[in-house]
Amino acid sequence: MIEFRGVTKRFPDGTVAVDSLDLAVDAGKITVFVGPSGCGKTTSLRMINRMIEPTGGTITVDGRDVTAVDAAELRRGIGYVIQQAGLFPHRTILDNIATVPLLLGWSKAKARARAAELMELVGLDREMAKRYPAQLSGGQQQRVGVARALAADPPILLMDEPFSAVDPVVRESLQDELLRLQSELGKTIVFVTHDIDEAIKLGDKVAVLRVGGVLAQYDEPGQLLARPVDDFVDNFVGRDRGYRGLGFLSSDAIPIGELATVALGDPVPDEDAWVLVVDSERHPQGWLNGAERNGTPTVDPAHLVPGGSLYDIGSGSLRSALDASLSSPSGVGV
Ligand code: ADP
Ligand code: MG
Repeated sequence: MIEFRGVTKRFPDGTVAVDSLDLAVDAGKITVFVGPSGCGKTTSLRMINRMIEPTGGTITVDGRDVTAVDAAELRRGIGYVIQQAGLFPHRTILDNIATVPLLLGWSKAKARARAAELMELVGLDREMAKRYPAQLSGGQQQRVGVARALAADPPILLMDEPFSAVDPVVRESLQDELLRLQSELGKTIVFVTHDIDEAIKLGDKVAVLRVGGVLAQYDEPGQLLARPVDDFVDNFVGRDRGYRGLGFLSSDAIPIGELATVALGDPVPDEDAWVLVVDSERHPQGWLNGAERNGTPTVDPAHLVPGGSLYDIGSGSLRSALDASLSSPSGVGV
């Protein structure tokens, strides 16, 4: 539904921020642009809503070249959320959220009712309605930013590092909320971050960009982990990081086997082994949430920590097992 075809942005000073980008963003999914600072993420995002004009190639939304659409009309269908929520300091939270509906000519009562509904949707307490932005925490301000961007119910939401300025605990809950929101609303979301963990957690598909604005790989998160196309992606995605949280479990009653770090080349210890893939960096406290049977720790999928996936790998190499689990995710993902 959003398509980049040979899109290039060369700024007047000669900087090429985005170089021949070809990529199709799926409707109703979260697509993440990730890469180091300066790799062209923001520029790519802003070309979608024409805050920046490309110097080459075309971007289409629903088949229409964005440069052929009136910019104001285009932006009505595209919500935009940035790192510092950019709220109006002298308007209450409710009025901040109601801004766009009011601009669209809604009555005050209707716009405020909509704003109240959105506050609930993004998990903001009703009491916040009368407060001013400075009276909210960073995380709460970002929720307001999301609510405001959703006010006119745009099919597309662009998010530029929306959670990067909040502390890690709040960031996790904002990420979880976004996933919940997305499953309820089914928006087409393009999400920019420099944080690979965030990209992997949120993205249905992830575009890894390198400095110079070149697309290195565009894939589902699991594919990025298992099949990085080159050393840049491998290092950026962090194969070591990705597999640090990978352990074997044998099958019967699934007692915990060696939950040590394993490498791709390691032999599979048990024909009926399962493999547990989990981000141990994010969950250093352990992968299992206290499941125990007859004094033996066991794996009940219900007890896997969020972010973990259990895959039946049978025999074969770990690489082939992972590949299989990726093409046919029969594992228990939690
Ligand atoms: P990111 O969001 O990935 O950090 P940006 O898209 O903001 O990267 O920037 C990509 C590159 O383009 C950087 O090298 C940046 O310095 C450059 N750039 C961004 N905006 C301009 C501009 N207005 N003029 C010149 N160079 C720019
Ligand atoms: Mg940026």
